[in-house]
Amino acid sequence: MAPTDEAAAGHVTDHGGGVRSLRVPIPDNPLGHTLVHLLDTDRGPVLVDTGWDDPTAWDTLSAGLAACGTSPAEIHGVVVTHHHPDHHGLSGRVREASGAWIAMHAADATVVRRTREAEPGLWLDYLAGKLARAGAPEAHIAPLRAARAAGGGGGLPGLRPALPDREIVPGELLDLAGRRLRAVWTPGHTPGHVCLHLEETHPAGRPGNGRLFSGDHLLPGITPHIGLYEDPDDATVTDPLGDYLDSLERVGRLAPAEVLPAHQHAFTGAQDRVRELLAHHEQRLTGLLRLLARPLTPWQVAERMEWNRPWEQIPYGSRNIAVSEAEAHLRRLVKLGRAEVAAGGEPARYVAV
Ligand SMILES: [Zn+2]
Ligand SMILES: [Zn+2]
Repeated sequence: MAPTDEAAAGHVTDHGGGVRSLRVPIPDNPLGHTLVHLLDTDRGPVLVDTGWDDPTAWDTLSAGLAACGTSPAEIHGVVVTHHHPDHHGLSGRVREASGAWIAMHAADATVVRRTREAEPGLWLDYLAGKLARAGAPEAHIAPLRAARAAGGGGGLPGLRPALPDREIVPGELLDLAGRRLRAVWTPGHTPGHVCLHLEETHPAGRPGNGRLFSGDHLLPGITPHIGLYEDPDDATVTDPLGDYLDSLERVGRLAPAEVLPAHQHAFTGAQDRVRELLAHHEQRLTGLLRLLARPLTPWQVAERMEWNRPWEQIPYGSRNIAVSEAEAHLRRLVKLGRAEVAAGGEPARYVAV
């Protein structure tokens, strides 16, 4: 069912200065919606993110664009903050309707290429191996091996993200007629996450440096998932949490007058929010160090970390994400010289130094 124009209008917020946000629903997800931003340029409207690839989301996006006096067919370009499906999902459909270009950071474009080309089963093999190394119990890994043996694992059905055709280069202005939008590389949530800094003066004259489209990097009331970059083809020991904390400081230094995130709502006080998040992660790392008074595997750490519900109630898939998040924190502690891998083979056990 397509939303009525009136309902669509309720999904649109005018932020002034040729910037509007459209609330595009994410089906069956507690986040509720993606805030897709519409930026007027001299060559036509440009989208920052597009929303989940789903008929209701598409109808809502189309109705929202109509309420703004435009349509998917008129979109000039799509700027993607990161490759996740709630941001990049509809990019391909917008390009089909309009011939718009799609721009993305090279590191996330690599993830998209990998997702499209992945051999069936590659992901299951990777996940099973990774969980075994993290010390997951055999009962947790068994369903993955069973699915593999049954010939499954061709990735998520219908998830074939669009290949971008332009690269977002960190520090450079995007090629947008009549606008000053600069890319700020903010890895952490994904390896190629970018924030987009609209350098023009705030339309309401708020103090600070322009406005920041922050994607999932900086949100007013939730902390984004920071796990591993999960690349089956790359054995490099990355430090996504370290990347994220550096990226937070980078956007804090920008001191934007207003932040336009991809979820929840627009907000001011970017530097305060950055400080809060830095403190939150510092606290989490300190709590983790206390757990590491004796050697623990990443799985054991995940079991003992604080989540939004008791470990026993965390569903299967979310446990895998939690282990990834625990590993990201462990890697950070190792990098900081506050923890190390204890002697004695796989699964790796970590201990405070
Ligand atoms: Zn995301
Ligand atoms: Zn998101």
